Amino acid sequence: MTDAATLERPGGGDDQQVEHFDVLIVGAGISGVGGAYHLTQQCPDKSFVVLESQGDYGGTWRTHTYPGIRSDSDLYTFGYRFKPWTGAPIATADKILAYMGEVIEENDLGRHIRYGHRIDTAVWSSDDRRWTITATVGDDGEQRVFTANFLWMCQGYYRHSEGYTPQWPGMDRFQGRIVHPQNWPEDLDYEGKDVLVIGSGATAATLIPAMAPKVNHITMLQRSPTYFYPGRNANEVADMLRELDIPEEWTHEIVRRKILHDQKEVVKASFEHPDLVKEELIKGITELLPEGFPVEKHFVPKYRPWQQRIAFVPDGDLFAGIKSGKASVVTDTIDTFTEKGILLESGEELEADIIVTATGFNLNVLGDIAFTIDGEPLDFANTITYRGMMFTGIPNMLWVFGYFRASWTLRADLLADFVCRLLKHMDELGVSVVTPTLRPEDQDMELLPWIDPEDFNPGYLQRGMHLLPKRGDKDPWRHSQDYWSEKELIPAADLDDGTLRYS
Ligand SMILES: Cc1cc2nc3c(=O)[nH]c(=O)nc-3n(C[C@H](O)[C@H](O)[C@H](O)COP(=O)(O)OP(=O)(O)OC[C@H]3O[C@@H](n4cnc5c(N)ncnc54)[C@H](O)[C@@H]3O)c2cc1C
Repeated sequence: MTDAATLERPGGGDDQQVEHFDVLIVGAGISGVGGAYHLTQQCPDKSFVVLESQGDYGGTWRTHTYPGIRSDSDLYTFGYRFKPWTGAPIATADKILAYMGEVIEENDLGRHIRYGHRIDTAVWSSDDRRWTITATVGDDGEQRVFTANFLWMCQGYYRHSEGYTPQWPGMDRFQGRIVHPQNWPEDLDYEGKDVLVIGSGATAATLIPAMAPKVNHITMLQRSPTYFYPGRNANEVADMLRELDIPEEWTHEIVRRKILHDQKEVVKASFEHPDLVKEELIKGITELLPEGFPVEKHFVPKYRPWQQRIAFVPDGDLFAGIKSGKASVVTDTIDTFTEKGILLESGEELEADIIVTATGFNLNVLGDIAFTIDGEPLDFANTITYRGMMFTGIPNMLWVFGYFRASWTLRADLLADFVCRLLKHMDELGVSVVTPTLRPEDQDMELLPWIDPEDFNPGYLQRGMHLLPKRGDKDPWRHSQDYWSEKELIPAADLDDGTLRYS
């Protein structure tokens, strides 16, 4: 049950109302809202609260408001397993928000969520056997204090307040406007303008076709090519099942299974036959580009398929923009910004009214929350992960870090089941603290980076890897990022194998 107690604030000062919950969820994005749903279903006796710094739910889909903002994976698998997706597979942010809104509404989750609560500190006390969380509420700096037995970190992996913009020489000279997609200005008028987009990830691939109809010209400037996967924004199996009037719950499950089956084959092939997969991807793109287009220069990456996320391009709209002449691609390195645009190392100058830096994210570790454990500041990088979700020496805490080669939400659902199973197991054992701890036989295992850079290496992870926990070279200390093995391993994880220490 929820308690409200009056506590003296550390360091004296006013008495403060402190609310206690069994579970505190950080963040009301797709993971946090999913976590709230699973708690109500699987652990109905547990009290919980979701604290969210933004003014509404949605996380990623609320933060990003740039033109065309959409998913790059299908919503049958990015959607929750428990709530059928009934639209086109690739969805815009407003459709995803509407879907999440229905989940909140249908399950009466709104009463558990507190918006405008930015958590600043999380303090674990072994004496009290609980976390104390301090949040800043609203703009006037009011602080509220919560205590919780278990902290469920659903804060995502990047800083929502601002994206990553590298510093190039001469940026201050540029007379036009520089915009990062993560902070899209509401008043940005790009009608009839020349726009230069730096970057060629999913964001650029979304922005360019969305802006192309209005601009004079839009150029995608990339240092090196990225893989894209163009395809129809429809799912044949879903269409067929709907024609047969099959209930949406069945359609959702069948389509998910089919998509996951096909993706497994593609991911497997990208390891076993990377050249073949590469050839297929390039062939798909070439067919959509004008005759004689230098595909090799602009669309043939140097890395293996799936070493970075492959953006699905619905209905090949990016390539249609290029074919129409409204959009173009330049592959080169920036020498300097100029008054009028960007001078490239090749000597060419690209002129622009607006430069969009689609250059990615700043990794954010644990929601920029200052963690303390029994008086010691937590250095997350010094911990070792238990299955890519919990961490040695950090009691009663789990972080939802989803998949990259498959939809994030698949892991959010799997980990939610794990949290609920763990909480019930602890109740059965009559314990209140669980801390991942190396066993004697684990002491000498090789420690590796959070994610193998050979396996998956987007820029924000490479820049931030030193801030992240280590993984081991054997179970349960691995972090495989492999949905197809984890969907068996996580539900079957032995909670009494000695790596989870209870007290
Ligand atoms: C533009 C874009 C498109 C993407 N498309 C896909 C896709 O198609 N498929 C896919 O699988 N993945 C995609 N991703 C990855 C995506 O981030 C995840 O899939 C997913 O949305 C993450 O959900 P989340 O709830 O874990 O975190 P987030 O969506 O990041 O939400 C975290 C929430 O926690 C809140 N928060 C953070 N710190 C604090 C704090 N200290 N106090 C209180 N609240 C806090 C934030 O305000 C935020 O609302 C995309 C990412 C981006 C940026």
